[in-house]
Amino acid sequence: MNTNYSDFEKLYSAKGFHENGTLLLSELTNYLKKTAESTSPALSFIEPEEMLRYWQSWNDNTRHLSESERIQKFCTDLLSYTNHLQNPKYIGHQVSAPLPIASLMMLIGGISNNGSAVYEMGMAPTAMERVVTDKLCTKFGWDSNSGGFLTSGGTLANLTSLLAARKFKATEDIWNEGMQKPLAILVSSQAHYCVDRAARIMGLGADGIISIEVNENFCADESAIEKAYQSALVKGREVIAVVGSAPSTSTGNYDNLDALGRFANDKGIWFHIDAAHGGAAIFSGKYKYLLKGSERADSIIIDGHKMMLMPALSTAVLFKNKNHAYENFNQRAAYLLEDSVEEDWYNGAKKTFECTKTMMVLPWFILLNLYGESLFETYIDRQYDLARAFAEEINRAEDFETPARIDSNIVCFRYQFNENINAQNQQLRSYLLKHSDYYIVQTHLDGSHYLRVSLMNPLTELNHLSQLLDEIRQVVNNQKHLSNLSL
Ligand SMILES: *Cc1c(COP(=O)(O)O)cnc(C)c1O
Repeated sequence: MNTNYSDFEKLYSAKGFHENGTLLLSELTNYLKKTAESTSPALSFIEPEEMLRYWQSWNDNTRHLSESERIQKFCTDLLSYTNHLQNPKYIGHQVSAPLPIASLMMLIGGISNNGSAVYEMGMAPTAMERVVTDKLCTKFGWDSNSGGFLTSGGTLANLTSLLAARKFKATEDIWNEGMQKPLAILVSSQAHYCVDRAARIMGLGADGIISIEVNENFCADESAIEKAYQSALVKGREVIAVVGSAPSTSTGNYDNLDALGRFANDKGIWFHIDAAHGGAAIFSGKYKYLLKGSERADSIIIDGHKMMLMPALSTAVLFKNKNHAYENFNQRAAYLLEDSVEEDWYNGAKKTFECTKTMMVLPWFILLNLYGESLFETYIDRQYDLARAFAEEINRAEDFETPARIDSNIVCFRYQFNENINAQNQQLRSYLLKHSDYYIVQTHLDGSHYLRVSLMNPLTELNHLSQLLDEIRQVVNNQKHLSNLSL
């Protein structure tokens, strides 16, 4: 189709929107119905090269169809070649199966496109963001001096927080003068890899990331913090921050935040909590003990798209002292921002990496208002309970084992092969990826290979997980040596 000036009227027409919208809505409705029934695999795996060829030739292959047929085919194709997070057998990576109402909010955002870098370009979302982050700060026990904002993902949120740590704790003015003296942060080796990445982006280098040794549950060992601190000093480094994982990525276990926080507070250094995954536990009367010590933090991040039932991508970055949020990037763009010293909460661009961002606050606001905190409490309790029940079942069985305590909704486990246990569990996971209806992932812990599940989907029941163990037993029994399987 050649687009002419006169076509724009049609392309923007409300009628056309309604027609296409109705079509997409019915495709998505079928998708949700089918995935929840779990009659097909969570993921129908296709090799990357084959997938590339498919989409390279998509235009040619669909050229003969009408516009609405092509839109429909695009939707069907896309959904069949993606991972179905709403399928109860999706128990893989830590991404939410978003609540449909939360996903619909992103449609409004996509149309209104008021990405709020400056107040006039997003009045409502700017105010909503204040409402939502104030509420989260209060949940963590902080007073009215606290404040925060939303940003595009946990990775950027951790980087933003660590930049604040550098700005407000390093003795030198690095933002203006550049880095003169080497700095360091203390963090366990089990932290999400993006913390390491953030520190390297900030110029700390590999030596500036000082590992706190982990205990038998793969959590920062509180008795090893001082040792890590001293080793940084010996290397001539100024320690600016301690980072706690809530939880760490592989095992999903929470660091002892109280101990890390006490240490940081005593030394006068920044305490950051990476609660991208497990910050939502603050809503749970039963599980908020895992976040004990979070009131000591200077900054905390929580992903909306992990345990807050929202679509990607949005992360809350919370500061105990809101001036830390407002003055992190004090690089003035005079044409955008009034140069006021008074509290300037409504100009987002002063606080965030992004200049323009998506209207990511909409799902936060609507879920908190329609369903309240009990939505998150019920969800956390259900998923964390389910993980404990699954781990008990694994440990009762003689042929499976777990490596550590279970804190959250993440469970690592392995089949107890008599020989080549690492290689065989790895083969097992490859086999499941290609031949099973379940989607699970894997991890390395201390040199050992484990299967790993994140129980993200509130439609996943214990019997789905028991069936997974049975399916694995069948695979193993049918083939004594997995390495011989045609994968
Ligand atoms: C997922 C995760 C991140 C990274 O967040 P993104 O939103 O994927 O960028 C960081 N830390 C932890 C603990 C996580 O679970």
